[in-house]
Amino acid sequence: MFRKVLIANRGEIALRILRACRELGIASVAVHSTADATAMHVRLADESVCIGPPPASESYLNPLAILAAAEITGADAIHPGYGFLSENADFAQMVIEHGFTFIGPSPEHLRLMGDKILAKKTAAELGLPVVPGTEEAIASEAEALAAAERIGFPLLIKAAAGGGGRGMTVVQNRSQLEEALRLARREAKLGFGDDRVYLERYLDRPRHIEVQVLGDQHGNLVHLGERDCTLQRRHQKVVEEAPSPVLGGRERAEIGERVARALQRLGYANAGTVEFLWQDGRFYFIEMNTRLQVEHPVTELVTGVDIVREQIRIAAGERLGLRQEQIRIQGHAIEVRVTAEDPKTLVPAPGRVRAYHPPGGPGVRVDSALYAGYTVPPHYDSLIAKLIVHDVDRPTAIRRLERALAEYVIDGMATNLPLLRALFATDEVREGRYDTRWLGQFLQGWRG
Ligand code: ADP
Repeated sequence: MFRKVLIANRGEIALRILRACRELGIASVAVHSTADATAMHVRLADESVCIGPPPASESYLNPLAILAAAEITGADAIHPGYGFLSENADFAQMVIEHGFTFIGPSPEHLRLMGDKILAKKTAAELGLPVVPGTEEAIASEAEALAAAERIGFPLLIKAAAGGGGRGMTVVQNRSQLEEALRLARREAKLGFGDDRVYLERYLDRPRHIEVQVLGDQHGNLVHLGERDCTLQRRHQKVVEEAPSPVLGGRERAEIGERVARALQRLGYANAGTVEFLWQDGRFYFIEMNTRLQVEHPVTELVTGVDIVREQIRIAAGERLGLRQEQIRIQGHAIEVRVTAEDPKTLVPAPGRVRAYHPPGGPGVRVDSALYAGYTVPPHYDSLIAKLIVHDVDRPTAIRRLERALAEYVIDGMATNLPLLRALFATDEVREGRYDTRWLGQFLQGWRG
């Protein structure tokens, strides 16, 4: 097992990893930008190293600064968390070449799944159902037009290197295609440094359902069931739950087994998530995330598996301590993402926390790096807390969530808490009747 792990991240996820390290008896090293000198992950870590100025491009996204910090502190391994360098194959390769362990999958698997075109092709080859679309990057206008005829409108232009809800354009009809293609290419080049795009059928009322897996380096791999992340705004998740309210027991077991079989064939090791859209009872693969996800806690609560602890154990070469038949989904868990945003406009509104009172009591978990007196820096993601509840079934979990949301006090700055409270008062959310576009429509009405 490792003696010391460097956590190449910040905020709630840096804390989450730090806690797992501490429970395993591993020393932790925090890295931080100058804007995060007083951040909670820095305060709680055993050691910390400043790696640069506030912009992420000069600190949390700077591989050399992170490797130097690992070198200086004598860390054995690096956990990248999510976002930042977590899915960067070149970074993972550098980590390994410098003699550290990367707590995540192999650079080969990061590379394969980081390219959405290759990922889809691989998924199809492994027997997973994919969204109909082009199998290669679009090379010419004529090719795009021909492919569009086969796929049908509306369709999506997607960037091969896209992520974080960016790099997607809906095209309604043939006459828009040429112009949209040109723009999508340019945006992809600017945003991701890669102008390859592909076409995909646009599903008009899908749900987002994803399957969590854990594999070790000895060929053992299990799935931990699914998460439903259908409540999204601008293709970004706002609420996640497990299990999905729309799947029956057989459907659940089937998709889980299919995913596990596919990734076992691939030889995948560490934590990963295979994302699908689900419509009219059918699954369509969209992408795979080769890292720990923001919404991993809902799976932890319904399975009792500590995903971060397993990631660290797996990376250290230990065997998965779990067999598929030992994994049981118990009760229902819901996570809401609390953000520092104006509740009506949802524009990021970072500021200083005056008073802070997180909810507690049975079945309530808060993953957050907030504290009273802390100033949320404007340079990073607006996620400030994840509130996760667990109870025996969905209706009781919702009541528990409402109770917890009512207790939550974050005074001194704007948050989306009022929106989250309003969401769970709607019949649609209470009854689980919505698709990925529903929240966007709800927001329009809610803003008034
Ligand atoms: P990212 O990597 O940016 O998160 P994804 O491919 O995971 O992108 O898609 C994010 C979300 O975008 C999905 O959950 C869904 O809401 C929407 N989306 C993606 N592909 C399609 C599609 N073919 N049809 C309809 N919606 C889609």
